[in-house]
Amino acid sequence: MLCYPDRRSALRAGAAAAVGALTAACGTGSRTPAGPPAEPASATPAPVRAAAAPRRFPDQPDEIAHGPRDRPRVALTFHGNGDPAIARAVLSEAERAGARVTVLAIGSWLDAHPDMARRVLDGGHELGNHTQRHLAINDMPEAEAYAEITGCAQRLKRLTGSIGTWFRPSQTQYATPLVKELARRAGYPHVLSYDVDSLDFTSPGAAAVIRTVTGTIHGGSVVSLHFGYADTVDAMPPLLEELARRKLRAVTTTELLTS
Ligand SMILES: [Zn+2]
Repeated sequence: MLCYPDRRSALRAGAAAAVGALTAACGTGSRTPAGPPAEPASATPAPVRAAAAPRRFPDQPDEIAHGPRDRPRVALTFHGNGDPAIARAVLSEAERAGARVTVLAIGSWLDAHPDMARRVLDGGHELGNHTQRHLAINDMPEAEAYAEITGCAQRLKRLTGSIGTWFRPSQTQYATPLVKELARRAGYPHVLSYDVDSLDFTSPGAAAVIRTVTGTIHGGSVVSLHFGYADTVDAMPPLLEELARRKLRAVTTTELLTS
């Protein structure tokens, strides 16, 4: 059974609680240090995980749609936007299964939910740039398209110390030559495409998301998924189980490309 009504209810309740907490504690740091309760006050705080900067992979094209086909690894990559309760639920499901994912965050989402940048990195995942406003970047004039890339880059830099490990263009699977050039100018040697489209953003139901992904995924695949949709949360546990059954490890995009 692939439908989890309880999970949905829990999500809704979580979202409502999150909204309540935001209104009640506006502007205060919402993250309290986790740590075991008995930890002495003098203990050194856990080091803040720094976001990795973009790097060039000499063997890879300027637009990467998949990794090596001869290794049993895949990258689950997420459009970072929408209800943070859903984003947190997706990340938790990934972590429960030992998976690491790549989150391409929209700048305006980070403006609204700056703590999500840290949440992603704290889970051992990768964080990247998915433009400032998620407009149809391939159709924009050069200066505007560049501002979309650098706007999000600046926010990532401020929040994490890096402009993000990856850049993915908005509203398109493939970047135009101009957008690739602008991404390079902004500091991203590659743009990150994908070869498996989960179509989760069409809300087809979790079972359909799983079918679509498992029907086409194989070693080296980069899968496009989205935060912001309950189907994606519901699809995660069975999808990760199926990947494990096929001995496909879900790793970060950098791991996918690194031997
Ligand atoms: Zn997107």
